[in-house]
Amino acid sequence: MSEKISTAPIEHRAEAVKAALVDTGLVSAQMFDDVAEIAESWKPENGAHVVARAWTDPDFMDRLLSDATAACAEFGYAGPQGEYIVALENTPTCHNVIVCTQCSCTAWPVLGLPPDWYKSPEYRARVVREPRRVLAEMGLNVGKDVSVRVWETSAETRYLVIPMRPNETEDWTLDQLAALVSRESMIGVAVAGRP
Ligand code: FE
Repeated sequence: MSEKISTAPIEHRAEAVKAALVDTGLVSAQMFDDVAEIAESWKPENGAHVVARAWTDPDFMDRLLSDATAACAEFGYAGPQGEYIVALENTPTCHNVIVCTQCSCTAWPVLGLPPDWYKSPEYRARVVREPRRVLAEMGLNVGKDVSVRVWETSAETRYLVIPMRPNETEDWTLDQLAALVSRESMIGVAVAGRP
């Protein structure tokens, strides 16, 4: 018979862990404040601006594909979990999707912290085995004539998927284009487009 385990709300548990770490001197209270401050700058809107720029500036696209870490740093998007970023360009014949099968790695400076579904054991286990089915379940049907590449992100290498630019956006501004780029599209479980 399984025993039901009751747990305190996540906020209470987080506070308890924080207090224990500070009390034992393993981590300073200041470090928590510093990380919380930096974390506010980690958001997918950063990556969306990188993608919009790449769509409109072929030279930047070249730089992004050859050295995404340096290209993202041009915008100031750098730092923890962004030390080595690799950009993957979606094309009409190739769709890229990323996963961290070990845990939950994303390129924090451009994608932000990972969403819950990305951390789920189900996504991590299944997207490597049956990516088309998982993508379809998430609302993205990839055509049979399009190859699907699944990339294992890791502590060392963080990927950024560059979704394809939607049609009929030739005259759009950078901000308008960036608004089409969701976090999900930069993970590769969605395409860029109107929300
Ligand atoms: Fe991870």
